[in-house]
Amino acid sequence: MFKRVLIANRGEIALRIIRACHELGIEAVAVYSEADAGAPYLRMADHAVCIGKGPASDSYLNIPHIIAAAEITDADAIHPGYGFLAENAHFASVCRDCKMEFIGPSPEAMALLGDKISCKAMARKAKVPTFPGTEGAIDDIEEAVGVAFKIGYPVIIKAAAGGGGRGMRVCRNEDDLRAGVKKASQEAQAAFANGAVYIEKFLEHARHVEVQVIGDKHGNAIHLYERDCSVQRRHQKLIEEAPAPGVDSRKREDLCKSAARLVKNAEYSGAATVEFLMDEKQNFYLLEVNTRVQVEHPITEMITGVDIVKTGIRVAAGEPLPYRQKDITIRGHSIECRINAEDPKRNFAPCAGTVERFDPPGGPGVRMDTHVISGYRVPPNYDSMIGKLIVHADDRAQAIARASRALKEFRVEPIATTIPLHIELMANKSFQKGGVDIHFLERLLKSQTT
Ligand code: ADP
Repeated sequence: MFKRVLIANRGEIALRIIRACHELGIEAVAVYSEADAGAPYLRMADHAVCIGKGPASDSYLNIPHIIAAAEITDADAIHPGYGFLAENAHFASVCRDCKMEFIGPSPEAMALLGDKISCKAMARKAKVPTFPGTEGAIDDIEEAVGVAFKIGYPVIIKAAAGGGGRGMRVCRNEDDLRAGVKKASQEAQAAFANGAVYIEKFLEHARHVEVQVIGDKHGNAIHLYERDCSVQRRHQKLIEEAPAPGVDSRKREDLCKSAARLVKNAEYSGAATVEFLMDEKQNFYLLEVNTRVQVEHPITEMITGVDIVKTGIRVAAGEPLPYRQKDITIRGHSIECRINAEDPKRNFAPCAGTVERFDPPGGPGVRMDTHVISGYRVPPNYDSMIGKLIVHADDRAQAIARASRALKEFRVEPIATTIPLHIELMANKSFQKGGVDIHFLERLLKSQTT
């Protein structure tokens, strides 16, 4: 096992990883930018090293600074968390060259599954359902027009290297497509230094359903069942739940097994999430694979009892997975509400500043993953999530009641947060019925402003 792990991240996920290290008897090295200096969670680490100025490019994205911090503290492994360098195959290979274990997949597996075109090709080989569309990158517009004619409009243009909802365009007819391909490719080139784009069928009414998987270095890979993350705004998830409501058990097995097959075929080790869109008939199609631990991993931990972060560290150290597929069962229902320092009444404007009062909820079945305490100053430099409220109960109705109760206990002052919106959503009839689609929240918000 590792002696000392450096965490190349900040905030709640840095704290989550510090806790996992300590439970495994590993020392944790935190790094921080000047904007995070003095943040209370840094005290929980065994060492804390400043790696540069506030902008992420000078600190959390600065590979030489991070490697230098790992060298001075004699860390033998680096955990990237999510965001920042977590899906950067170059960073993973630099770690390998510096003889530090990257806690995640090999750079090769990351590159294979991280590129949407190679991932889709791999999925087809593994018999994982994908959207019909072009086989690879578009290099001839006439061919793309032909494919779109065959599969029917609407289609969506996507970038091979796309992320965070960027570089996508929905095309409703041939004119849209002809005009869109070139523009999308230029945008992708500028944003991701990779202009490869492809098209696939666009699904109008879909749910976002994703499968948690984990593999080891001995060729084993299992799934930990699925999550529904359909409550989104601008492709940002706001509420996640596990298991996905209303999915029948045969479909569930199909879905989850196909995700496990995909990562197994890619010789993947570590935690990953295989994302799908699901239509009204519960047909599912691969969206992409996230090759890292995800924000919403705790709800899967709650229903399966598996500690995903600790297991990820153990497999990175070379241990075989401590579970077989048949050991994994679902118990109860779990919901996560992302608490962001944003004002839902002012079009989700970010609210940086000092949190004078932070009284998180507690009681049975409530878990708070947060780095915030009273007096914490939210820096303006990073994303606005200040914590995750996670509840677990015997069934979905009780989980909703529990989330609602916990949200009402929660006090954050004086900055605005997404708590009031979550309270409203827990009381929403469509949400309570289950199975809302990915446009549900945007529709609801629009109906409130008109
Ligand atoms: P990114 O890596 O940028 O997040 P994804 O492939 O995960 O891109 O897609 C992001 C979102 O775009 C999805 O959650 C969904 O809302 C929408 N989307 C992507 N592909 C399709 C599709 N084929 N049909 C309908 N919506 C899609």
